[in-house]
Amino acid sequence: MAQGPDALTSGMTPTAIFDTLDIQHPNADTELHYRNAFELLIATILSAQSTDARVNLTTPALFERYPTPAALAAATPEELEPQIKATGFYRVKAKNIQGAAAAIVALHGGQVPADMDALVALPGVGRKTANVVLGHALGVPGWPVDRHVLRVAERIGFIHTDDAVMAERQLCALLPPARWTRASDTLILHGRRICKPKPLCDSCHIRTGCAYFAALGAKAVRPKKK
Ligand code: SF4
Repeated sequence: MAQGPDALTSGMTPTAIFDTLDIQHPNADTELHYRNAFELLIATILSAQSTDARVNLTTPALFERYPTPAALAAATPEELEPQIKATGFYRVKAKNIQGAAAAIVALHGGQVPADMDALVALPGVGRKTANVVLGHALGVPGWPVDRHVLRVAERIGFIHTDDAVMAERQLCALLPPARWTRASDTLILHGRRICKPKPLCDSCHIRTGCAYFAALGAKAVRPKKK
């Protein structure tokens, strides 16, 4: 007999919830386009207060012109500003990407460091950006926490904080390190598609494991249009 989505999540351990989200959002991954750790770092810095789609429209020409940290470090922020303007906050972002590239050249031999402390010392790089790069491009497990992760994880009942660092620690305790990056991507996709600010609980496969749904019950399900 075919199982409905709720049957899949009976038992509702964190592992079961993430297994079910994996099925609902197969092959979750960052939606930023990149070919190496340097490109992902720059794309992630540019994605702040922007959309991945907008960044993906901007970066091909940028990386064509500045294909390495050394090339980007040699530019001036003023030269970079018009090229990244569409991503918003372009003045500070131009300074940050040029400064990050310069630091990578000066301090790390032109290679993006595979180390959290070294990454967050770069201009424009916080823990979220560092974890994105570590997990996706450098083979170091990381759990990026953004606003989607905070919202969805809090609703499910995995975390009880709006502090990103504390949330990261609580989420990392739920799964083995090898699953962290994909789990973050899955929560982000779930937050974008289903568990939006106004959640679409009637389309959610983990609702029997969700504290928010349990608290609201049927009220959390939007009535279907006739
Ligand atoms: S049941 Fe609703 S609130 Fe809970 S995770 Fe799913 S969409 Fe979000």
